[in-house]
Amino acid sequence: MITRTSPSCQTENTVIRVAEVKSWQQLLSDSTLTLAELLQQLNISTADFATSIDGDPDISPQDFPIRAPAPFINRMVKGDINDPLLRQVLPLVKEHELTPGYTADPLHESNFNNTPGLIHKYRSRALLIVTKACAIHCRYCFRRHFPYEDNQPSRAMWAEALDYLQQHPEINEVIYSGGDPLASSNAQLSWLNQHIAAIPHIKTLRIHSRLPVVLPQRIDPGLLEILQQWPGKKVVVIHSNHANELDDSVKNAIDKLKAIGVTVLNQTVLLKGINDSATALVELSEQLFEIGVLPYYLHLLDTVSGAAHFAISDNDAKAIMGEVTARLPGYLVPRLVREEADKTSKTPILPTL
Ligand SMILES: *Cc1c(COP(=O)(O)O)cnc(C)c1O
Ligand code: SF4
Repeated sequence: MITRTSPSCQTENTVIRVAEVKSWQQLLSDSTLTLAELLQQLNISTADFATSIDGDPDISPQDFPIRAPAPFINRMVKGDINDPLLRQVLPLVKEHELTPGYTADPLHESNFNNTPGLIHKYRSRALLIVTKACAIHCRYCFRRHFPYEDNQPSRAMWAEALDYLQQHPEINEVIYSGGDPLASSNAQLSWLNQHIAAIPHIKTLRIHSRLPVVLPQRIDPGLLEILQQWPGKKVVVIHSNHANELDDSVKNAIDKLKAIGVTVLNQTVLLKGINDSATALVELSEQLFEIGVLPYYLHLLDTVSGAAHFAISDNDAKAIMGEVTARLPGYLVPRLVREEADKTSKTPILPTL
């Protein structure tokens, strides 16, 4: 039990007792998993769905269940069914609609997935599916249909992936992906890091994770120590879609990463009803800069079935980015890209200026 005085709430004889500080593992396992619980925490009733921008909620999404951790839910605006953070995790009946062009594996990742847990599509970089787990289930995610079960390598199975890295000297960067790699334990990450660090041509370790945003408590002393032991360059690409996601707890986690020499970048997905305006994107970039993070990519939505209601047309995206480009210094403008199956890099999409 931690007892501390809070400067804003302190009165003469009161000491605010903060309930036991939960570990990130505890916060993760206490995540909200049902629609009823989510709506109750936000003081939203089913009547509020009359004003929903996108139709009715799916009470029990079978294939891709609800998941949202408390630190993220706490940043949603109470009573607002159209809150941009809520929309990212709220399952809708619409997800079951079939849309032409939207498929289960839009990036044909299964083609590049011959070694379990490893995707080598871009020449110098290999992506490792470190875990199938995520701390949050984002409704727009292209991994919602990914055959995770086949991609959770045991240590014995990692031997094959490590062997592949060993035999491909053109790979100089390993990207931990998932799922969310930081949903793994420090013990697992430490084991993997040590084996990868032993391969001389791997210079850079990159981690793609939403946890520094949705569960910043994850950046714990054990993880920082593991990262500090990595002999080469370290990059963490966080994933934030809206300025409201970035509060002091996120800044605190970023500060810790930067203090040990990690380059911290952000990627965003352009999402209808969430961040599809120049103003929302300008605010996001400015807030990222405020907490010491530079924008990297703005992704057009992957055409995964169930996510079509988040799509923005190319022309609208280019126009929005044109305005963002006019309003921000160049270093705060993310690169608008699309991920295309069978391409050997992301495809840049130029803004309409
Ligand atoms: C996005 C991605 C990468 C990393 O690409 P960068 O342009 O270096 O950020 C690597 N492999 C795969 C399969 C990817 O989708
Ligand atoms: S992989 Fe990333 S975007 Fe997809 S559900 Fe997990 S945290 Fe969200």
